[in-house]
Amino acid sequence: MNIAIIGGGFTGLTAAYELAKKGHKVTVFEKDKVLGGLAHGFKRPGWDWHLEYAYHHLFANDWAILSLIRELGLEDKLILTRPITANYISPSVIARSPAKGGATWQSLGLSEILHAREIATPAERSRNDIKTIVQLDSPIHLLRYPGLSIIDKVRTAALVAFCKVNPFWQPLEGITARQLFEVIGGATAWQKLWESLMIGKFGNLADTVAASWLWARIKKRTPKLYYIKGGFHTLVAALEKAIKQHGGKILANTAIIKLDQLVKFGQFDRILLTVPTPIAAKLIPNLAFGIGHLALKIPHLHAQTLILETKEPILKEVYWLNITDRSFPFLAVVAHTNMIDKKHYGGRHLTYFGNYLPDGHPYLSMTKNQLFKVFLPYVKRLNPAFHWSDWLNWSDLFIGLYAQPVHQLHYSSRAPKLETPVKGVYLANLDSIYPWDRGTNYAVELGIRAAKKIGEDAKESF
Ligand SMILES: Cc1cc2nc3c(=O)[nH]c(=O)nc-3n(C[C@H](O)[C@H](O)[C@H](O)COP(=O)(O)OP(=O)(O)OC[C@H]3O[C@@H](n4cnc5c(N)ncnc54)[C@H](O)[C@@H]3O)c2cc1C
Repeated sequence: MNIAIIGGGFTGLTAAYELAKKGHKVTVFEKDKVLGGLAHGFKRPGWDWHLEYAYHHLFANDWAILSLIRELGLEDKLILTRPITANYISPSVIARSPAKGGATWQSLGLSEILHAREIATPAERSRNDIKTIVQLDSPIHLLRYPGLSIIDKVRTAALVAFCKVNPFWQPLEGITARQLFEVIGGATAWQKLWESLMIGKFGNLADTVAASWLWARIKKRTPKLYYIKGGFHTLVAALEKAIKQHGGKILANTAIIKLDQLVKFGQFDRILLTVPTPIAAKLIPNLAFGIGHLALKIPHLHAQTLILETKEPILKEVYWLNITDRSFPFLAVVAHTNMIDKKHYGGRHLTYFGNYLPDGHPYLSMTKNQLFKVFLPYVKRLNPAFHWSDWLNWSDLFIGLYAQPVHQLHYSSRAPKLETPVKGVYLANLDSIYPWDRGTNYAVELGIRAAKKIGEDAKESF
């Protein structure tokens, strides 16, 4: 069979590899110059390793991608780390809680954002909130966490244990994350630990997110994380090589805007789309009327990362910092070089500032310098010594479109199905991997599943 695969991210590349291994003729079409999709990397002069545009690591239980890594002979490229996760908490956030009517940065317009420095009161600006970065990645750190009673902590531990041991996610699709977390963990713990992160990520959709989504995030999380020597690029390059060795073709820098366009590349028996659902809807015009119509109602957020390469570390020791203070203009700070030795990046420190943004958000149309100007006062709150003209060596801005589907109630009934209304055309993307949140592990799992289904259908039709 001759199979076209649209999209050269992990789903498309894995499906191509699996199908090519089985003797099918595959062609991958990727709109960008480089492969890897949301996990694609780049390398700057003086670096030995690639870095992803969006922070990436693997959990120790990401079995599908770990097996693929082993199958491709890259086991010795895996690095197991135990980096620190922490929360930034500011006392001022309690008084300024959105629940109490305060403004969050998500509700601000462009001019207000550009004058964000004035949002903080002089007292807040001068306080420099010492001890606001609190480690939270083990039971002992939960016990030490400020602002929660011992009962709140015991209930939070029970909630985490419930998520870890309970395999039944289906009933959790019918209630919101807030409902479940308030019942088991208590209202105070919800407010202090989870609510502001949910608002920071999902904005005014936060209260519509199903409990199954937060369950999945907690269930899968492992304190130990894997990274791949050379970056995720090492795996992308190995997949590319393996696909080609099995006779597959990869056409980068080739966007498919209409399926008719494929005719000039050959006669394809099957087409697998791995692009985001809103893009797939443009490629399959009758998706809206077929089994995919509910999928088109899934709200999506776009991921944005501002990457700073600095001479000194912005965060000391902490790898992943959740910002629970919603007056901050970013949701998470990920200090890559607090997980991976900076020697692989010319001795410089690499820090991401991440956000998830709805369509039309002013940040999406800002230049990296405009965004940096907005972030600067808050970077200084994290590290008062930060001095951009002395420290900053280089920066870049990345936007991953439709990178975060919002798992609302009964998400599984809305998620796109592999088969589309058009015979022979399949759809597999990060909206299809419920109850799990997006991740390269699930992209690999999905790529294998899609290849299996296409292979089976091929047998039936011959
Ligand atoms: C901020 C952020 C952090 C993340 N962190 C992690 C992490 O720590 N660990 C982890 O495992 N995962 C992480 N992920 C998720 C992971 O990157 C994704 O789940 C995974 O890469 C999705 O792969 P995919 O192939 O399904 O989709 P994509 O990577 O989106 O691939 C789709 C491909 O289709 C291409 N395309 C789009 N339109 C067209 C067209 N018209 N013609 C041809 N090609 C087209 C795109 O360019 C893209 O390459 C993160 C994602 C983000 C955004």
